[in-house]
Amino acid sequence: MKKILVVGAGFSGAVIARELANTGEYKILVVDARGHVAGNCYTERDKETGIMEHVYGPHIFNTNNEKVWNYIQKFGEFRSYLNHVKAVTEKGLFSLPINLLTINQFFGKQFNPREAADFIEQQGDASISNPQNFEQQALKLIGRALYENFFKGYTIKQWGCDPKELPASILSRLPIRFNYDDNYYNSKFQGIPVNGYTELVQNMINHSNIEVKLNTKYTREQNPKFDHTFYSGPLDAYFDFELGRLSYRTIFFEKNIFDGEDYQGNPVINYCSKDIPYTRVHEHKHFTPWEKHDKSIYLKEFSKETTAGDIPYYPKRLAADKVLLDAYRNLANNETKVTFIGRLGTYRYMDMHHVIDEALTISEDFTKSDNATPFY
Ligand code: UDP
Repeated sequence: MKKILVVGAGFSGAVIARELANTGEYKILVVDARGHVAGNCYTERDKETGIMEHVYGPHIFNTNNEKVWNYIQKFGEFRSYLNHVKAVTEKGLFSLPINLLTINQFFGKQFNPREAADFIEQQGDASISNPQNFEQQALKLIGRALYENFFKGYTIKQWGCDPKELPASILSRLPIRFNYDDNYYNSKFQGIPVNGYTELVQNMINHSNIEVKLNTKYTREQNPKFDHTFYSGPLDAYFDFELGRLSYRTIFFEKNIFDGEDYQGNPVINYCSKDIPYTRVHEHKHFTPWEKHDKSIYLKEFSKETTAGDIPYYPKRLAADKVLLDAYRNLANNETKVTFIGRLGTYRYMDMHHVIDEALTISEDFTKSDNATPFY
């Protein structure tokens, strides 16, 4: 049997390990530097309250991809869950994503959907035909008042740079609606695994052809012992940062126990002003509304630039990063028998469903040809 090394036990690594194991033609070793599987999706029950905690921040599974949705359910039971988010701005608390209620309350109007769409079009800056960055995209789509109250301060805190430096695509993650639907996502399939993400990933890698080693550091010198390596760690770390560091944001949390049933009455509340140091507060019991707990936990989320030792979460992809990324990709393209996968391995802002979809494609191609390219 061929020997495969998978670096990182997040969704990319787990899906590839499982798909290759299923063929019966490979022995797979999965290594992870941390003491647990599931990467940043890791969940565990809080010791004091029993609430399922999303230890590295909230993960709400949502996708339009039926193949991914069906696949993921083979490894754990999901329950339907729609995410709801409120935003605290300098003008008060509003509904997110921006919808008819937000627009009417923010501007003191009672628009119907068509009136609201016309009004927001007038607010938008029509002179921007081809938005080049986050700020231009926002000014074009929603105008200055909504941009400054809902997006500017939050984005500066979250990304640590001027929104003019960020890609327009980040704003496009959020819908804008002219009805009263306040479901945070547009996706057709949305849910939360009843027993958490950790169990789901554990079920994926629980296979007689897969061995898992946690607390295990990887260096690329180990590659020659294997027929192929799938690497989901940071691309720059693979090369020991020899060309410099790609910029990532990391997030960190201040965790609190609330001695009552409901601390904030909603799963997530965003704080959009740049004068409030945290970006959002999440109260995790609301992610499993079918469970009953007497107490609650809530986490204030802060964002900062990564320095050595921090967990990278968000690839910034600023102009300088893209130049460096190209240089690292050139280096990576010289590697034979290594494939770079996932959010960190490819330095892209991917959601769980993107990662799973791509990992399924990579596994399918690899099992057919036994020869994978460094990137997909
Ligand atoms: N955003 C914002 N204000 C908000 C919510 C989001 O400015 O109240 C911006 C911010 O730049 C953020 C981006 O929209 O990074 C995408 O938001 P999303 O909720 O998708 O971020 P994630 O959950 O991936 O952190």
